[in-house]
Amino acid sequence: MDKSLIIGLLQNVAILLAFTFIYDIIWESEKAFRSKLNKILAGLIIGGIGVLLMNTPWTLSPGLVFDTRTVLLVNTGLFFGPFATLVGASVIGAYRLFMGGPGVWMGLATIISSASVGILWKLYRPSWRKSNYMIDLAIVSFIAHFCMFLSIFLVKGEESRAETFNTMTLPILTVYPLFAILVGRLLINRMNNHKVKQKLEISEVRYDSFVNRNSDMMFMKDENGRYVLVNDMFCEMVGKPREELIGKTDLEIYDKKHSGYYSDTDSKVLEKGEIVIFEELFNGKYTETTKFPINLGKDKIGVGAIIRDVTAKHKKREMQEVLLYLSRLSQIDNDLKVFMEKVHFHMKKLIQAENFYIALYDKESDKYTFPYYVDEFETVDPEESYSLHNTLTDYVRLTGKGMLINSKTEKEIAEHFPLTYEGEYSPVWLGAPLMDSSMKQVIGVAAVQDYADENAYNEDDLMLFEIFANTIGIFIDRITMLNKLKDAKESAEQADKIKTAFLANMSHEIRTPLNGIIGFSEMLMEEVQDKEQKDYSQIINTSAHRLLSTINDIMDIAKIESGQVSVVNENFNLLQTIRESYFFFKKQNLKVELKLVLPKQKSIDMLSDKIKIQQIITNLVNNAVKFTPEGYIEIGCIDEGDTVQIYVKDTGIGISDEDKERIFERFTQVESKGKRVYGGTGLGLSIVKEYVGLLGGEIWLDSEPGKGSKFSFRLKKPAI
Ligand code: ADP
Repeated sequence: MDKSLIIGLLQNVAILLAFTFIYDIIWESEKAFRSKLNKILAGLIIGGIGVLLMNTPWTLSPGLVFDTRTVLLVNTGLFFGPFATLVGASVIGAYRLFMGGPGVWMGLATIISSASVGILWKLYRPSWRKSNYMIDLAIVSFIAHFCMFLSIFLVKGEESRAETFNTMTLPILTVYPLFAILVGRLLINRMNNHKVKQKLEISEVRYDSFVNRNSDMMFMKDENGRYVLVNDMFCEMVGKPREELIGKTDLEIYDKKHSGYYSDTDSKVLEKGEIVIFEELFNGKYTETTKFPINLGKDKIGVGAIIRDVTAKHKKREMQEVLLYLSRLSQIDNDLKVFMEKVHFHMKKLIQAENFYIALYDKESDKYTFPYYVDEFETVDPEESYSLHNTLTDYVRLTGKGMLINSKTEKEIAEHFPLTYEGEYSPVWLGAPLMDSSMKQVIGVAAVQDYADENAYNEDDLMLFEIFANTIGIFIDRITMLNKLKDAKESAEQADKIKTAFLANMSHEIRTPLNGIIGFSEMLMEEVQDKEQKDYSQIINTSAHRLLSTINDIMDIAKIESGQVSVVNENFNLLQTIRESYFFFKKQNLKVELKLVLPKQKSIDMLSDKIKIQQIITNLVNNAVKFTPEGYIEIGCIDEGDTVQIYVKDTGIGISDEDKERIFERFTQVESKGKRVYGGTGLGLSIVKEYVGLLGGEIWLDSEPGKGSKFSFRLKKPAI
């Protein structure tokens, strides 16, 4: 082979290699904006390369030059598509035409055929690159060069044609297709490289945004506990740049206590393959760390971690707990100072509350007192009243609204309110009204302030503080109410004592002369002989008795009311007691017949207050006597097993259904036609009812007007 042939071939190889790079630069990388103009430009460059190839040929004989334009064009058709290929082929064709010579037709034919084969293959087998592209490349390259071989027949002149045929057939059918395959293979490589690069770029961008544009902190450690990856948030949290963390262990970054705990949890993850979750306070923030095993590749296991800032969640939970606790406390505590201290203690957990006070407003004096006042700079006298006109405190009370005051809001208020300041100035102040439980009256103001940091509070803090103020307001309202009740109870008790003492006194004062009257009128009744005088003494005696019984009733009621009546239990035979009551009345020679109906047995043993039972029976019989003009009165007893029933029945005037409800009430008497017919105070039955109640029994009434009444009560027998 001639030397120029080798040089030409090598030059062609070099140019085609350059072509593959150009493919890379102007074609693959511009994929996104492959416009017509771009395609024309690509075509022109291909044309240029073609021309370059044609200028580094090996010349068989003058006018018969060979080069690798077919290799170029078939690949152009396959990789650049019809448009750019046509532009390129036109440039190359025009140049070949311009060069002339005996090979001009063959030259043109090879240009057209190789470009067409490439284009057609791409058009009809658009996805040829996806499967066995080497086979496709081989077939296309061979067809294109077979066409080149055929075009030898277009060479002008017998001799030239023969020479061409002899020297070029073998290279055209072997070296050229191989060369075309090689270039095609290179282009595919380029293309794939490009795809891989793009994928890598995308995954890198995705990885970066996933790991770093994230509110969670993340890291990865290798099997020796060295950091291999940290995200931006983690660096920020630790307060160190990435370079100072990568390759380091926890021991080199944190103190012993922390690093010890961290490596313990790491080994749990590494040794047991467990997921470990823990919460901790980390640089002033509550964090929740989830550690899990990760595959580091090459059979190595490391520790991955996602650390979440749960401060907000934590705060919210804490806030709920505090508010719940205080709202409960506001129902239980009774001492303002104690309560306020607790409120203050818990409030400090949630907001800046070094300086905290409550000011209670007194309408009458238009002044404030400070039952609770804690301040870094100021003190107040808790006993003193202060006039706070035109202060922020007063402003909040007047508007009834919670307020966050800083230099900005302060100016706004000062525009319509003549603000003045008392004491040390603080750049930020938070105040909320204390409302009474009806939420209508502002009873005072609660406030916190910070002297150092103007941004100590935000709107959320204001809201929270208002809730605190509400709880305090309700508490104060409650204890005020409680104190009022206490006072009222005390004065009522005092009044009651006076009343009881008065009554005891009075009863003594009245009973003593009455006893005199009763005793002497009885003596008179016996002594005097004159009928008229005897009658008078009788009247005096009866009246005195009635007065005494009235006094007794009133005294009984007074004692019951003041809770001075107590039950004195003793063992006794109930039947005997009833019998005594019966004989007491029998002796008195009543106008109507008096019956006694007792069960057959000898005794009913009771453990109860005998005197009260007798009093009950006496009262009932007294009533029956009063309201029974004719017929009889019956005192009876029925043994019911566990209980016993005692009754007083009469054939008197009876009681209507509507009166039945009322007669046990105090001072109730049934009126007949608006007139009082029978004497009495209306207290007897209410005393009876109270007594039965005290003895643990029940009383009821059966009655029919005109026919009579039956009062019954039931008592429990003692358990044997
Ligand atoms: P008083 O001192 O007036 O008797 P009570 O409380 O003992 O007061 O009785 C209230 C009223 O109940 C009586 O005024 C009377 O109208 C009615 N009442 C009580 N007992 C009887 C009865 N056995 N028969 C009819 N009415 C009665």
